[in-house]
Amino acid sequence: MVQDKDGDSRGEVHRNWIGGQWVKGPEVIANINPSNVAEVVGWYAKADQAAAQAAIDAAAGAFAAWAGTSPQLRADVLDRVGTELLARREALGTLLSREEGKTLGEGIGEVTRAGQIFKFFAGEALRNEGDLLDSIRPGVRVEVTREPVGVIGVITPWNFPIAIPAWKIAPALAFGNCVVFKPAELVPGSAWALTEILSRSGLPEGVFNLVMGAGSVVGEAIVASPRVDAVSFTGSVERGRALAQSVVARGGKVQLEMGGKNAQVIVDDADLPRAVEITAQSAFFSTGQRCTAASRIIVTQGIYERFVGALVERVAALRVDDALKPNTDIGPVVDMRQLQQDLDYLDIAQREGARLVIGGQRLRREAEGFYLAPALVVDSAPQMRVNKEEIFGPVASVIRVADYEEALAVTNDTVFGLTAGIATTSLRLAEHFKRHAQAGMVMVNVPTAGVDYHVPFGGRKGSSFGPREQGRYAREFYTTVKTSYVAA
Ligand code: NAD
Repeated sequence: MVQDKDGDSRGEVHRNWIGGQWVKGPEVIANINPSNVAEVVGWYAKADQAAAQAAIDAAAGAFAAWAGTSPQLRADVLDRVGTELLARREALGTLLSREEGKTLGEGIGEVTRAGQIFKFFAGEALRNEGDLLDSIRPGVRVEVTREPVGVIGVITPWNFPIAIPAWKIAPALAFGNCVVFKPAELVPGSAWALTEILSRSGLPEGVFNLVMGAGSVVGEAIVASPRVDAVSFTGSVERGRALAQSVVARGGKVQLEMGGKNAQVIVDDADLPRAVEITAQSAFFSTGQRCTAASRIIVTQGIYERFVGALVERVAALRVDDALKPNTDIGPVVDMRQLQQDLDYLDIAQREGARLVIGGQRLRREAEGFYLAPALVVDSAPQMRVNKEEIFGPVASVIRVADYEEALAVTNDTVFGLTAGIATTSLRLAEHFKRHAQAGMVMVNVPTAGVDYHVPFGGRKGSSFGPREQGRYAREFYTTVKTSYVAA
């Protein structure tokens, strides 16, 4: 078994995976259950700078051989990983829900998605096609081919502990790259479990490495290393922007997925029950901790009173409790820092003149956890901080507008551009919104959050930088193009 006993009262410490070895760290990370803060989900070895360096060296050393493998070998590895993730989705989903706080259904759903992603990219390994053209010079052919980039640094946030790592690691490996993976410190459990599966999948030593630890230490080492050819980052805008500058300054390739301030528009002709359900799902499920969550609910005046009344009723019915309880709709917030941020924004909103109509108070449950009643704020104006800055919790604000034109203008009045949704029965408005919403993903009568794994994912403006993730578009980041001229 790959776990080890460190011989102290902590019991098992899950180690880092570097160059095909399970490696101890100088310190440990306690993985705390946000549904019950007295419960330690597990202990995880914290890597230092030297461990990060060793992982980078191992990946760089393994690259030439891995890049030259048959796509069938890479497809088989990824397919095995996908199969195991799907077979163990309940146990892994339970672990995920315990460490992150999303409900068990959401945890199992996320692991399922990770499994599907690995299987999708198993196929992509075999479909890395190029182009063949006649040159403008007689007797010369031009081949356009795709080659792996090299060592990929994968840096991920806490809110999707297995799906986001999967949608970066699977395409990286599929196209022949090596990986150094640094998960968020709050959720090492799912990252370790995925690594444990990868460690038995047939990958040669050094091709995939896990270094759990602080962003300021391990993350910085990955970002700064000239041996890391590309960095794929998902996280906050502030971190992403700073990190991109460092990577670009040393000539590396970078891809960023960052924050959102996504709008859900409800127009007068919307199907009311459907609009309410879409909004509740978008804003509050997964505790509102999704980059694609709707946090600005923009409602035209003809439906405003009816919609807000029905939404308040729906929010009141949401059951907030331990992530693993079968009837829980909304789990806890991930940690105290995030909970405090949610509470601070509710204060700010009220000081700026908005009105809290439901929720917003800390809740007591059987065990002590970071429970927050989903909060809805009304009478909010587009320029208020609550409508400008990402909160990242179960907090949504409603903005009343005169008509569709104003709704669209408010939708686009943000520095972000990840998702935007509209609830309407009008084909004309749906088409117009689809074309004019300044977002990477547009949703018509479906929640702003909840996306497929086989199509591109990403945003515009301040939400994203670099090529899209997922689906066939992932190849753009994880390969580099070569144009060859050949005369017989
Ligand atoms: P974060 O920016 O604090 O951390 C993200 C990752 O960066 C973590 O692994 C962290 O350890 C690491 N990091 C921190 N400092 C670093 C440094 N100096 N150098 C290198 N790495 C460093 O984000 P978070 O709090 O974990 O996640 C929440 C954020 O993620 C939200 O802003 C949310 O919108 C965003 N997010 C975006 C998407 C998307 O696809 N657009 C998806 C999920 C989450």
